[in-house]
Amino acid sequence: MSEPATTFDLYSPALKKGTARVFTLELYLPPISLAGQAYRFQPEKVRTRLSVTQVGQGYMVTMSFHCSLSGVCWRCLEKAELEVAVEASEFFQPELPPIEAMGEEEEGSLWYLEDGIINLSGWARDAVAEVLPPKIICRDDCPGLCSQCGTDLNAGACGCEPPTDSRWDKLREWWPPEDG
Ligand SMILES: [Zn+2]
Ligand SMILES: [Zn+2]
Repeated sequence: MSEPATTFDLYSPALKKGTARVFTLELYLPPISLAGQAYRFQPEKVRTRLSVTQVGQGYMVTMSFHCSLSGVCWRCLEKAELEVAVEASEFFQPELPPIEAMGEEEEGSLWYLEDGIINLSGWARDAVAEVLPPKIICRDDCPGLCSQCGTDLNAGACGCEPPTDSRWDKLREWWPPEDG
C-alpha cells in the first residue's frame, strides 16, 4: 500500500490575499528510483516547513525539510544511508490557463499543480533527487567489490592479483613475451 501524496491547496481559506504564511506539515516522501534501485526515506514522513507568499497572480512557495534516504551502495551493494537537507522554491500560478503556461520557461511548477492543489510529495521527491550526490555510496572510501571474484573489499582483501594495467596490452602485442 502506498501512501497518498501530501498536497497543499492554494485556494485554502488559510491563505489570505497579500499575506505571507508559514505552515508546518507532515510530508510523505515516496521512494526514489536511482540506477534501477529503489531508495526509501526513513522515516517516510518528515516535518516540513512550507512558506507561502502571494506575489501578483501567483504564490511563491518554499519548502524545507531534512530527510534520510536508504538503499544500496553503488560500489559494494551493501546498505547506504544518506542525510539530505532540502530547500526548494517554486512559483505557482493556479489561475494561469494551461496553454499560456506551457509557453513559460520556468514550467517546473506545472508538474506539481492541478486545480490549485500542489502535489508536495512529487515536488519534494524531485527536489531531493536534485541535491543527491552523483553516486550513492556507503562511505567516501568504500573500496567496493573485487572486479575478479566479487568479494566485498570492505571485509578485507580477497587475495586476487591486482588487475594488470591495460596500457601495457598494446606493447605486449608488439613484443610478445618470450616463453620457453
Ligand atoms: Zn559501499
Ligand atoms: Zn578478488
